[in-house]
Amino acid sequence: MHISQSWIDIAYLIAASLFVLGIKGLTKPKTAVRGNQLSALGMLIACVVTLLDKDVIQYEVIIAGLLVGGTVGAVLAARVQMTSMPQMIALLNGFGGGASFAVASAAYFGGVSGPVEVISTGAAILIGAVTLTGSLVAFAKLQELIGGGSIGFPGMKIVNALLLLGSLTAIGFMLVDPSNSQLYWGIAVASCVLGLLLVLPIGGADMPVVIALLNSYSGIAAAAAGFVMGNSALIITGSLVGASGLILTQIMCKAMNRSLTNVLFGVMGEVGETIDADEVYQGKVKSSSADEIAMILETAQRVVIVPGFGMAMAQAQHAVRDMAEAMEARGIEVEYAIHPVAGRMPGHMNVLLAEAEVEYDKMRDMDSINPTFEQTDVAIVIGANDVTNPMAREDKGSPIYGMPILNVDKAKTVVVIKRSLSPGFAGLPNPLFAKDNTLMLFGDGKKAILDLTQAIKEG
Ligand code: NDP
Repeated sequence: MHISQSWIDIAYLIAASLFVLGIKGLTKPKTAVRGNQLSALGMLIACVVTLLDKDVIQYEVIIAGLLVGGTVGAVLAARVQMTSMPQMIALLNGFGGGASFAVASAAYFGGVSGPVEVISTGAAILIGAVTLTGSLVAFAKLQELIGGGSIGFPGMKIVNALLLLGSLTAIGFMLVDPSNSQLYWGIAVASCVLGLLLVLPIGGADMPVVIALLNSYSGIAAAAAGFVMGNSALIITGSLVGASGLILTQIMCKAMNRSLTNVLFGVMGEVGETIDADEVYQGKVKSSSADEIAMILETAQRVVIVPGFGMAMAQAQHAVRDMAEAMEARGIEVEYAIHPVAGRMPGHMNVLLAEAEVEYDKMRDMDSINPTFEQTDVAIVIGANDVTNPMAREDKGSPIYGMPILNVDKAKTVVVIKRSLSPGFAGLPNPLFAKDNTLMLFGDGKKAILDLTQAIKEG
C-alpha cells in the first residue's frame, strides 16, 4: 500500500504530540496511567505508519519478532518484583541502545553514503553500544551478579578517553571511506568496551543515577538511528527520551546535592572529616516499644509517615497502609512525606505505596509537606535515614551538607523504625536519632509496623 509523504508526516506529528501529552500525564500519579496509554497509542500509530511507509513485502519475520519480543517482555514485566524494578529498567535501556546499534549496523552493511548518514550511523553505533554494555553492567550490579563496589584499574580513565577518541576518529575516517568495514568493527568493539569500563567503577547504590543517564543515551542513540533511516518519528522519540533522561539525572543529582561528575567518578562521603557515630549517639538514644508509641498516638491529631529504603527492604508498604487506616479510624489525619531520592530509584516510594493502594492525594512531596511538620504531632519514619538527616541542613562540614531533607525533627514527636543505628546509603550517623523528641522503635520494618498497628487497635 502506498501512502503519500504528507499523510505519513501528519501521522508522525500526531504520534509525536501523543508522546508529549503522555509525558505530561506522567508528571502526576493521577494522570500517569492515561499518560502511558496516550504514549502507547502514539507508538502504535508510529509503528503502523512506518510499516506502511516502508512498503514491507514480507511480514513473517516482523510478526515472529513481535511475538517473541512481546512474549518475553510481557512475562518479564508480569513477574518482576517491585524491588527489582531498577534492574528491569536497566535491561530495557540496554535493549533500546542495542536496537539502535543493530539498526545502524544493518544500515552500515546495506551501504551508507553522505556525511549525515555516515555520522549518524557512527553515532548510533557508538552510543548504542555504550548504552547496551553499560546497562548490562548496571543490571549485573543491581542483580548482585557482580560486586556492587567500584571495579577498576589504574589508568582506567585514560583508557576510556582513548577508546572514545579512537571511536570518534574512526567515524571521521568513515566519512572518507565508508566501505572500509574495519572501521565499523573498530567503533563497535571500542564502544562496547567503553560501556563496560564506564559503569564498572560506579558503586551499586549509584546505579539509579547511572540508569537515568543511560536512558538518556538510549534516546540519543535512537535519534541518531532515526537520522540513519530518515524516520522523523524516531528522531522525535529519541530526542524526547534523551532530554527527559538528562532532566531526570539532573533532578536526582540535585536532590542528593551531588554533581554528576561526583556520581560518575567520585565516591560519596570523601569530603570533611569522618564523624564519630558514638559521639553523636552516646547516652542520647531512647529506645521505645509499640505500646508506648500507640499511647502517644492516642492523643495525636496529625501524623506524617516518612518512608525510605528500609520500607522497600522490609516489603512493609501494605502493613504501613493498614496502620494508616487504623489511625484514620481513630480520627487522626495521616499523610505521607515523599523525598525525591528516598529509596534507590526515582519514584521508588510512590510506586510501593501505590501498589499498596495508598491514595495519591496523601503522598505529599518534600516542598509541600516540609512546612507542615511543625503542626505534626507524630512523624513516623520507616526505614528512611539520609533523607531525614539534619546534618544536611546544619553541619557545613558534612558530606551531605546542602542536600534537601524532610524536616521531620520539627514534628512534636519523631518515631524512627529501623533495625539498628546503622547508617544509610551515605554512611553517616544521623543526629535525628539522638534528639530529645525522637523515639527509636528497633526492629524489622514490617514486624514493627504490624506490632504498632495491633497496639493502636487495642488501645
Ligand atoms: P538510607 O539508605 O539512608 O537508609 C535506609 C535505612 O533503612 C537504613 O539506615 C537501614 O537501617 C534501614 N533498613 C534497611 N532494611 C530495613 C528493614 N528490613 N526494616 C527496617 N529498616 C531497614 O535510605 P533513604 O531512603 O533515607 O535515603 C536514600 C539514599 O539513597 C540517599 O542517600 C540517596 O541519596 C541515595 N540514593 C537514592 C537514589 C534514588 O533514586 N532514590 C539513587 C541513588 C542513591 P538498619 O540497617 O538499621 O535497619
